[in-house]
Amino acid sequence: MNYIIMGLPGAGKGTQAKKIVEGFGLVHLSTGDMFRQAKKSDEVISKLLASGQLVPDDIVIDMIKNRLAKGNLKNGFLLDGFPRTVKQAEELDLMLKVENMKIAAVFFVDVCFDEAIKRIVGRRVCTCGASYHVDFIPPKIEGKCDICGKDLIQRDDDKEDVVKNRLEVYEKQTRPLIDYYKKTKLFVNIDGSKNEKEIFNQISRLMIVNKITVKNTGCLLCYFA
Ligand SMILES: [Zn+2]
Repeated sequence: MNYIIMGLPGAGKGTQAKKIVEGFGLVHLSTGDMFRQAKKSDEVISKLLASGQLVPDDIVIDMIKNRLAKGNLKNGFLLDGFPRTVKQAEELDLMLKVENMKIAAVFFVDVCFDEAIKRIVGRRVCTCGASYHVDFIPPKIEGKCDICGKDLIQRDDDKEDVVKNRLEVYEKQTRPLIDYYKKTKLFVNIDGSKNEKEIFNQISRLMIVNKITVKNTGCLLCYFA
């Protein structure tokens, strides 16, 4: 079974994606990872990312197309970071048709703006790679890394005005995409206000039901209707 995961920045999508691919043995098709990989060898992508611009539709679509054609996805995959626009979603539908594949569900991890802002603005990181949150994962000593003792920093990307801007951009781009998937009945709204474990339970429950009993219909909502 193949799935798509979407969510506002701060919704906890990254954490959930990791748990899902580990728990269900899926291949993680993450455009974020693909960009980081390509950055090392591809000058165009490297320049785009360095200047903070979005990677254009054509390039992202080609990346996914190549990956799907490469195969080795028999156990299913989780798309993460793609599609991001309606155009990308339409292209994905065409690619899947060519490869004779289907998407079983689109999980949208839903949080309100205020919650998303709180989660991102509270993030602190250390140069050693450790990460914290002032409310949810506080370090033992305020402002200091538990592992190496260095001062924790707030990434520029995580500052409040930048976050608000990121959320608005995402909302503008993604709202039409949500409507697109609602029409296909693949869309599943996941309550992202819950904690990590509860969110994962919501998603995995649906996936287990899907795998065992609705193998051929490919649609969770039809099953629950
Ligand atoms: Zn550290």
